[in-house]
Amino acid sequence: MKITLLGTGTPAPSLERQSSGYLFEVGGDLIVMDHGPGAHQRLVESGHRAVDVGHVFFSHLHYDHCMDYSRLVLQRWDMGADRIPDLKVFGPAPIARMTDLLFGADGVYGPDIRARVEHQSSIDVFEARGGQTPRKRPAPIVREVHAGDVVEGNGWKVTVGHASHVQPQLECLAFRLDSDQGSVCYSGDSGACEELVELARGCDVLIHMNHHFSGTEPTESYRRACGNHRDNAAMAARAGVKTLVLTHLLAQIDRPGVREQIVHEIQQEFHGAVIWGEDLLQLTVPGSAITAIEG
Ligand SMILES: [Zn+2]
Repeated sequence: MKITLLGTGTPAPSLERQSSGYLFEVGGDLIVMDHGPGAHQRLVESGHRAVDVGHVFFSHLHYDHCMDYSRLVLQRWDMGADRIPDLKVFGPAPIARMTDLLFGADGVYGPDIRARVEHQSSIDVFEARGGQTPRKRPAPIVREVHAGDVVEGNGWKVTVGHASHVQPQLECLAFRLDSDQGSVCYSGDSGACEELVELARGCDVLIHMNHHFSGTEPTESYRRACGNHRDNAAMAARAGVKTLVLTHLLAQIDRPGVREQIVHEIQQEFHGAVIWGEDLLQLTVPGSAITAIEG
């Protein structure tokens, strides 16, 4: 299994860190988890195209985790020219409604889609790409999932878990991906919580939000919603994961000296490998060896 970090930033604009996105190559499938603004550009930079992606999972519907959903669906539909299966989409409610509001006949992109389906110039391009008229509309296959659900794929399985983030306004999920090529847990956005320790137990890799430096959180509520480095160390140690990948990194902590201090302090409690996430960093599981860093 190969993991590519597509976006390791936050909602804040950054040239170095795009918003959340992760790519998993496993069992012949290309799976995306979260697709925030800029993540799709990183997907292209990683050497992949929208048409190669078969499945997308959303941990929660904060915009920094789903704004490139439109780009994934529309570019996939346009370039795919009806020759690839519809995208399979998994996420918390209201992902089905969001999908309909974006791509439905009365949706945000409804007029664009209609023009591309009906106008002769667009039909010409569609046929040049190998499509056969009449052209179908984009029709992502959406399944709303909740903690405890399981999604089976071709040689892989995703178990949906609970994340501690911004409930009850948004349902917030974490995902565990198991395959015979290894196991990885992506916690979405989350502070420390028992359910996550259980979900991640024994994984090769835990990809976890490391939003801020422990002790700098303004409130306990903020701490419960957004991971800090000492809480992450304790969770990774208790879950018994082999590698902890830190992501969703605020600019305040993403600087020389602070990075080293955070990793050092985590390693006082967690004795596996600690990786400071970077956009386009690639990991190979099992072994969690970094095989390439691009970009
Ligand atoms: Zn969030």
